[in-house]
Amino acid sequence: MYTKFQNYLKQELAQIEADGLYKNERIIESPQGAEILVKGKKCLNFCANNYLGLADNPKLIEAAKKGMDARGFGMASVRFICGCQDLHKKLEAKISEFFGTEDTILYAACFDANGGVFEPLLGAEDAIISDALNHASIIDGVRLCKAQRFRYANADMADLEKQLQDAQKCRFRLIVTDGVFSMDGNVCPLDKIYELAQKYDAMVMVDESHSAGVVGTTGRGVTERFNLRGKIEILTGTLGKAFGGAMGGFTTGKKEIIDMLRQRSRPYLFSNSMAPGLVAAGIRMFEMMTETNELQDKLHSNTDYFIKQMLAAGFDCKPSESAICAVMLYDAPLSQRFAARMQDEGIFVTGFYYPVVPKGQARIRVQISAAHEKEHLDRCIEAFVKIGKELGVIK
Ligand SMILES: *Cc1c(COP(=O)(O)O)cnc(C)c1O
Repeated sequence: MYTKFQNYLKQELAQIEADGLYKNERIIESPQGAEILVKGKKCLNFCANNYLGLADNPKLIEAAKKGMDARGFGMASVRFICGCQDLHKKLEAKISEFFGTEDTILYAACFDANGGVFEPLLGAEDAIISDALNHASIIDGVRLCKAQRFRYANADMADLEKQLQDAQKCRFRLIVTDGVFSMDGNVCPLDKIYELAQKYDAMVMVDESHSAGVVGTTGRGVTERFNLRGKIEILTGTLGKAFGGAMGGFTTGKKEIIDMLRQRSRPYLFSNSMAPGLVAAGIRMFEMMTETNELQDKLHSNTDYFIKQMLAAGFDCKPSESAICAVMLYDAPLSQRFAARMQDEGIFVTGFYYPVVPKGQARIRVQISAAHEKEHLDRCIEAFVKIGKELGVIK
């Protein structure tokens, strides 16, 4: 049997490669940071989700070590059997405090939080109204749920209104959106979404994975940006991006919703509890967020500086209120050549093209971090200018 299957896989893999979609891993030989070591060569990293530069933070490493010393290496249990320590409850309380929500439930990852949020809450008589550019984990989570599915074009409020009208016959309606869309860096128009939710009697869920720690003056995410703290029924997020970059996910929001997830959410009931070291570091991380706003301030000024300089150099950058800067090149092969040349210059960025972004919308995505110093940003911009001229993108 396997020979036949093996041939089939080989053909499929060859096709992926021929389509130019084959993914190779770049092997990093250092901690994650602004500067990384690749094949013994120092490079500047502009494609990590390490927005606050916490991935190699000594205080978090110390907190993780102490957490392991005090509470061990692993839980070897799901939460409701014997996988819940005082640390887990403390981290959940910290997350609720951070977002101004009523209660929080932890998962191994935000992929699990999104995978386990819809099915326990909604049934066939309900409606989920989802932004077309929502993250894969939301799409998968919706698939696991029997609710009727409605889709609206990215951040298109006229389309959302139309979908809400179509969904009026349903018992409950839930609008779901990413806080920041990872390919364009645009922030969801949560003020308008909330207004429409009020008008058409719907609930709202926001995935804050790319926005938490980043968006809003103090990084509390899109609910801070739009003055809607405590108003949104469901938020999901990750500890794998701005919040240290290790792993862990959460759903936070209304008390009864979180309570129901503890009863029925399958990734919570049937998957292991977060490791004590990561939980302890998470607690320390949220404490740091309340001690100072230094990292958010630095991230915001880094992002402003970068985009201003790139626009001045003549690049076509999408407007962004996040730490993501999409440098538009439109042409797919050009985006790949550009990214490869940037790598030669010691700058790690990623070129994206169809089907990850729409046809003819190829781009380089740059992710700014509080770990970047001005000198790093300047080196990145200089490389962009050099290669932009070389490849005829700018004059
Ligand atoms: C990264 C991401 C996730 C997945 O988070 P993990 O904790 O890595 O599983 C979910 N949703 C969005 C919007 C993301 O960007």
